[in-house]
Amino acid sequence: MTQLPQSTQHVIIGAGVHGLSVAWHLAMELEARGRGSGHDIIVLDKTGPGAGASGIACGCVRNFYMTEPLHALLRHSVDVWMYDPVAFGFQQVGYVSVGEANQIADYEKIHKSQNSVEYYSDLYVGEEARTFLKTLWPDFKTEGVDVAIHEKVSGYAGTRQVIKGLAQKCTDHGVRIISGVEVTGYRRQGDTVSHVLTNQGEIKCDLVIWGLGAWTPHHWQMLDKSMTLDVQYPDGAVVHKDMWTYWRLLEGEVYYDKPYVTPEGQNPPVLHVELMNTPVVNEQTGRELMDHLYVYYKNGTERMDKPGLQGGTIPIKLGSKAETDPYGHDNDAYQADDWFADYLCSAMAQTMSRFEGIRPNFRNRRNGGIGAFTPDNIPVFDWAAPNVYMIADSNHGFKMLGAGKLVAQYLMGDDPEDLKPFSYSRYAAGRTYGASNSHSPWV
Ligand SMILES: Cc1cc2nc3c(=O)[nH]c(=O)nc-3n(C[C@H](O)[C@H](O)[C@H](O)COP(=O)(O)OP(=O)(O)OC[C@H]3O[C@@H](n4cnc5c(N)ncnc54)[C@H](O)[C@@H]3O)c2cc1C
Repeated sequence: MTQLPQSTQHVIIGAGVHGLSVAWHLAMELEARGRGSGHDIIVLDKTGPGAGASGIACGCVRNFYMTEPLHALLRHSVDVWMYDPVAFGFQQVGYVSVGEANQIADYEKIHKSQNSVEYYSDLYVGEEARTFLKTLWPDFKTEGVDVAIHEKVSGYAGTRQVIKGLAQKCTDHGVRIISGVEVTGYRRQGDTVSHVLTNQGEIKCDLVIWGLGAWTPHHWQMLDKSMTLDVQYPDGAVVHKDMWTYWRLLEGEVYYDKPYVTPEGQNPPVLHVELMNTPVVNEQTGRELMDHLYVYYKNGTERMDKPGLQGGTIPIKLGSKAETDPYGHDNDAYQADDWFADYLCSAMAQTMSRFEGIRPNFRNRRNGGIGAFTPDNIPVFDWAAPNVYMIADSNHGFKMLGAGKLVAQYLMGDDPEDLKPFSYSRYAAGRTYGASNSHSPWV
């Protein structure tokens, strides 16, 4: 067992993508500025690296959001993914999103904003969209499709690979990652944390950083922060909301014994189809499963035992309370529902003829998991207390490796512009996000 130090400068809680990314980048910043090194940082995880959402994510890295500040954040994130794509298991295959006519204006806006921050994408409308899709997937059923966007630098990554890669970067820079240590409380002087209390003793520290994923609400409560708040929207409307809302993600895997490739034999982009006016019909029974189609899928990563695809659909809202432990696949209450297998396979068959009749290939195993969302479903990167910095990604941040990089710069005294839109103060200041034309909570 690793001996806990009695004191250290920086304690990072949580060894998921954010805890590890910020630890690695902070170590590099301390070294580069001659202000210390990774030896001044410890990362604590009650279980171990990747024990939270980071270890069970589908792994999609995309930038299809109506919330424009996310576009720059994702630009930084792809820079980090591409810093060492082999170590992080990053496949830069691109990402294609597909919609109906009611979304054309949104796609145009997103395309413009993405390109303005050098996150390059191509936009296809009408017949051009249908032709584009057929070049990548000749069997794409393009009826009803009116618009498509192709993000060229997006892709996906294997969850185990990125956790291993990030943990290695941390240890290369002297950061200590200590598993099996649970933070149980904080000793405070006023609002400032002087000691982190753990199940194995206490640690005096200057700065605490949260990379706590679904456990963030619990620690928010430990600091006596309010679990509800008034959020003000740009139109002046004020809504009283829960600070944290849990959602349950629905994902699954489908075996496919032929190579899932483009006509050129390439690994295809991550595909995401939202047809808001097209129902999903059970391929076997003809019964309508949902009055709209929302599906994403891509080639499977290292978590699959045989070739196949991983995909998912819109998460389900649980509310302000949820049991976080046991987490992920170990929690009986939060597995993908029975209907989901029919839904995923039918939606895949509805988008490409190669997947017709694929239902028997659905992999019956535990899948999915929960996450804690912020009041507007957009990340909050800000102080939770005078010396407690919070990375709360609203459970769509596997892709957001750049958050740790920007936060490390901020903690060194810089003021990165691209971090500012994610401050907690936006809720009181009328800058709450939320404009969307989608069934998905991620906007
Ligand atoms: C099923 C699923 C699929 C997803 N798919 C995608 C996707 O395709 N693309 C995408 O961008 N995002 C996806 N997400 C979201 C993404 O996985 C998360 O937003 C991201 O991984 C959160 O990372 P994190 O580092 O903040 O937290 P986590 O990875 O959850 O890590 C938190 C860590 O904190 C530790 N911890 C908790 N409490 C304590 C304590 N008291 N003391 C010490 N340690 C503690 C835990 O053990 C855990 O390891 C998905 C999420 C789920 C659940």
